Amino acid sequence: MDGAKLLAQGSLWAATAAPGPERPALEEEVRVEVGIVGGGFTGLSTALHLAERGVRVALVEAREIGEGASGLNGGQVIPGLKRGREELAARFGADRAERMVALGDGAGERVYDLVQRYGIDCGLERNGWFRAAHSPIAMAYLEKTAKDMARRGVDAVLVDRAATGRMLGTDRYLGGLHDRRAGAVQPLAYVRGLARAAAGLGALVFARSPVERITRDGGAEWRIAGARGAIVAPKVLLATGAYTDRLWPGLARTFVGVQSAQMATAPLSANVRASVLPCRAVVSDTRKLSNYFRIDAEGRLVMGGRGPLGDTPSPSTLAAIARAAERRFPMLGRIEWKHAWCGRIDMTLDEMPRIHQPEPGLWTVLGYNGRGIALATTMGAVMADRMTGGGDPALDFPETPFATVPFHAFRAPGVAGAIAWYKFRDSLGFAA
Ligand SMILES: Cc1cc2nc3c(=O)[nH]c(=O)nc-3n(C[C@H](O)[C@H](O)[C@H](O)COP(=O)(O)OP(=O)(O)OC[C@H]3O[C@@H](n4cnc5c(N)ncnc54)[C@H](O)[C@@H]3O)c2cc1C
Repeated sequence: MDGAKLLAQGSLWAATAAPGPERPALEEEVRVEVGIVGGGFTGLSTALHLAERGVRVALVEAREIGEGASGLNGGQVIPGLKRGREELAARFGADRAERMVALGDGAGERVYDLVQRYGIDCGLERNGWFRAAHSPIAMAYLEKTAKDMARRGVDAVLVDRAATGRMLGTDRYLGGLHDRRAGAVQPLAYVRGLARAAAGLGALVFARSPVERITRDGGAEWRIAGARGAIVAPKVLLATGAYTDRLWPGLARTFVGVQSAQMATAPLSANVRASVLPCRAVVSDTRKLSNYFRIDAEGRLVMGGRGPLGDTPSPSTLAAIARAAERRFPMLGRIEWKHAWCGRIDMTLDEMPRIHQPEPGLWTVLGYNGRGIALATTMGAVMADRMTGGGDPALDFPETPFATVPFHAFRAPGVAGAIAWYKFRDSLGFAA
């Protein structure tokens, strides 16, 4: 496997998405009601939901639309928060926890609704998410999770070992949980579709314009300034995710950015396709350092896994992903990979998305911990409601104090240590 050649091919999504909407650079001064920094799912969904409410909004992206995590991810649309009702109730009270769980449970539907309403051509498939158990302990954890989901009326079923083999086309797993609410998209096509929809409703969307400074302009207005233009607005959202730079003091220290890498094959032949992941669900396993995989709309196998830090996957990360695929699907023989790429994930200590308001009128939202398609889309609806003083109970999500991760300066050795620890836990069979 020639890793350098694969990386040169870029991401599968960039190679297969229809071109994005042409957006201008920010080269003037615009005055709006809300200014947004970051052209991924969070920023664009917020812009779209604001524009739907008739709010004048402008968004600015440093690179092209979707060139952050939103255009690089696995395309697995997975609803739900990573923390359960009891834990949330202890932190935020029972009523609020109830609303938060409902918001998370409905997150996939928000994606499907936008795709349908705006006719976004992003290869949406709704074959569910298969969470595959790598150990008896993990299977017991999934059994408990399934009971919890059944109590909430979630459309999810526990699957035994034999049926798992038939659904996934691999005998590597002891069973699993099939959450039938989930789906799959071509993520770059989806984020570009959000940009097109927002712009269609009058949102000003600028690209190739890194924001260099955010300052208070005299009284109540914020000034979001790039090299050649600025957005002036009384309300601001920083939607810069794991690509957060030094724009806002300390924001980059509120999470740990880790790498996730993926590889994709050429379209599999019809014969082979029938035996590899025949149920067409998106899959991730129960390891903390999980492998995740799916078949894309044209029948390519897309396999992902965790790397350490940095914007280029190491040869050992790519080799580990290739091994994971070959072990699960030995019928593919020696797999010929066509694309390899990676992106950054914003991990928070409690694995929950975070809304902060470090200054009146300036919000930040990030921390999807690798599950941002449905949740970031949903946070866009939440933020649009919050920034217009809405108070819709269905869009309730707490703002937490701005808090930096302890010992953030030591994150590189910290991430390496955490990876070693998670590998050890995975080998003992614990579930993520
Ligand atoms: C490899 C990988 C696989 C993943 N797989 C899945 C999956 O299968 N399912 C799932 O639900 N989630 C997945 N995720 C997570 C998901 O992609 C993210 O949670 C989501 O895209 C976050 O969206 P965002 O808008 O918050 O951030 P981003 O999409 O990262 O957008 C932030 C944007 O802010 C811009 N920016 C930063 N600083 C500035 C500045 N100073 N000026 C202007 N712009 C700036 C960046 O350029 C960037 O485009 C994956 C992530 C990765 C990396």
